[in-house]
Amino acid sequence: MVSTGRFAPSPTGELHFGSLAAAVASFLQARSDGGRWLIRIEDIDPPREVPGSAGRILQDLLEFGLQSDLPVLYQSQRTDAYKNTISELLESGDAFWCSCSRADIPASGVYPGTCRDGLSRDKTPRSVRLKVHDMPICFNDLVQGRIEENLAETVGDFVIWRADDLPAYQLAVVVDDACQRVTEVVRGVDLLSSTARQIHLLNRMKLPVPRYAHHPLAVDAKGRKLSKRLGSDPISLLSRSEALEQVLHFLGQPCPAGLSLEDLWSWALENWRLSRIPGFEQISLDSGA
Ligand SMILES: [Zn+2]
Repeated sequence: MVSTGRFAPSPTGELHFGSLAAAVASFLQARSDGGRWLIRIEDIDPPREVPGSAGRILQDLLEFGLQSDLPVLYQSQRTDAYKNTISELLESGDAFWCSCSRADIPASGVYPGTCRDGLSRDKTPRSVRLKVHDMPICFNDLVQGRIEENLAETVGDFVIWRADDLPAYQLAVVVDDACQRVTEVVRGVDLLSSTARQIHLLNRMKLPVPRYAHHPLAVDAKGRKLSKRLGSDPISLLSRSEALEQVLHFLGQPCPAGLSLEDLWSWALENWRLSRIPGFEQISLDSGA
């Protein structure tokens, strides 16, 4: 099977250093192996969306030379696929309707199973949850190593269809990764905590589990995610080749200084090593950058 990677930004702002790092890492991991690379716009959360953002992200990626090998997939056009999956999971008994509001969930955040065995007639179904099992889910992250999570202890039965009638992030990601035949999920370590839920969903849907690699987050000297920094978006201050050079260094790839964009890509495709990505520790970029 041809290896397939993807970059899946939410259209909630500009392409920033951290998202560019995820795009570059996923691209190099797929392409250096002769595989293909896809872009997916995760626009399933209209309240959070910034108008025009998806177009600007795609344009920015294009200026870096990053182009999807297949037409860009928009999650907003995939509602039928998500609804079909919800129906199947409800029918198989893996999922159930829940009437709980936020106030009904204990402070631990772990769902106590209130609606698991059905709703009484006076309750209104609001969201759909997936049942979890009281057993560890294990996977080998290619950067972070062996990860183990027992969903019954960390989240409990989790929402896959939201009370505001939108697909939950976890569901949409899994349905689309399967649809796009993604074999390599390379993304920021902030999504590591979603991975066990996504593997559990894949298992319930009897779909193959991709390989995962979670790279560190780009943070400034005070430990703030760069994506949250206002008014100092580093990539807009740099030339494209300077920005790519910084991203490659951030990902632990020792590219020579001062290359053109084209030569940087040639170097990176030939020399990319996932194993060079620094592990658990978050890396601090030069605060003067
Ligand atoms: Zn409930």
